[in-house]
Amino acid sequence: MTTEGRPGLSGLGSDDLVAWVAAHGEPSYRARQIADAVWSGSAASPDELLTLPSGLRDALAADFTFDTVADTEMKDADGGLTEKALHRLADGALIESVLMHYPARAGSRERHTLCISSQAGCAVGCPFCATGELGFGRDLDVAEIVDQVRFASRRLVGDGKRLTNIVFMGMGEPLLNLDRVLAAIEALNDPRRFGLGARHITLSTSGVVPGIRRLTALGPQFTLAVSLHAARDPLRDVLVPLNRRWPVAEVVAAARDHSAATGRRISYEVTMIGGVNDTEADATAMVDLLRGDHAHVNLIPMNPVAHTPWTASPMPVIEAFAATLRGAGIETTIRRNRGQEVGAACGQLAAERAGEPPAPAVARRRARLVAESAAALLGERSHDPSPVGVGE
Ligand code: SAH
Ligand code: SF4
Repeated sequence: MTTEGRPGLSGLGSDDLVAWVAAHGEPSYRARQIADAVWSGSAASPDELLTLPSGLRDALAADFTFDTVADTEMKDADGGLTEKALHRLADGALIESVLMHYPARAGSRERHTLCISSQAGCAVGCPFCATGELGFGRDLDVAEIVDQVRFASRRLVGDGKRLTNIVFMGMGEPLLNLDRVLAAIEALNDPRRFGLGARHITLSTSGVVPGIRRLTALGPQFTLAVSLHAARDPLRDVLVPLNRRWPVAEVVAAARDHSAATGRRISYEVTMIGGVNDTEADATAMVDLLRGDHAHVNLIPMNPVAHTPWTASPMPVIEAFAATLRGAGIETTIRRNRGQEVGAACGQLAAERAGEPPAPAVARRRARLVAESAAALLGERSHDPSPVGVGE
């Protein structure tokens, strides 16, 4: 269900659609026709589903929203290689998705990766993340999640291309909206609906341990990425406030069990913040934490965001950090963040729309982050459990 108005049609499970069709006195093959129209992507509204009797078209339009992200603004970056979409949902909530094109290179085919949102805003409150600063809005429903994919897919199909990868690295913490995220993945995975192989879908989490364990119980499905950012609790408490609930050793233990049970490698994401989490001591702590694991570390220079005192680590520092990890046998890649010119670290466009917070609140936030990260560098764990927002 969307929060307001009619529910999104794409969020309906196959059985529910069959039941809806039956309730309208129509044969079950109509459910297949409707699902094909939803997922093949050419029709923009039920009015265009000319294979359906007009009465059924009207009933569909009365009961469902055909596209929950119909109200979308686009911004291009990286010479068209990155397309950022700002979607306005029925209740006015703003979410973002980002389509990234990777041209073919020697040894790798061209890829089109879509980064999607699972929530409007995020409750975790990581202070280097624009979405974290917005705070929690609400969970997205299944249709709002998969309609981001249908939207991007329509754009690609128009150019004769196909979406190759989906990553839940947009706004929100997917493992805190896991029922709906799993239902969305089921639809994306289903050969009779979107039909993308599970291996091409990546879930990224800031470390919701019960969620990771639930995924492990489901077996080898999709790729799991864990946002690590720091290997020491005092610093990770500051960078990922959820660490106070599930400390880093518990997160890595759950990820390790996941890898052992599924045979899949874990990706660890580390946003590199100059002078904060990029020291030699941090690299050594990460080696101690991950040595011998079936893991891959991605080092990502921090995208600039407003209202933090921080910027990306310089490239030579990132290279030295990578060398320490690699020296201990840990596979490590340095990634460039895409779309900085339009603010591709998800949440930035929505944050800009949310307006500028009062200057004194921003100044207090910056000062608090400087103090907390400085204390964390000395290895002190602060006792204040609240995440760092600007509304304080
Ligand atoms: N909530 C989930 C998924 C969405 S965030 C998670 O945290 O894993 C997706 C990724 O973007 C995370 O690894 C997050 O740490 C990273 N990220 C957020 N803000 C960033 C920034 N300013 N620069 C670089 N990476 C950022
Ligand atoms: Fe939420 Fe992920 Fe941003 Fe942290 S990095 S605030 S978990 S979206």
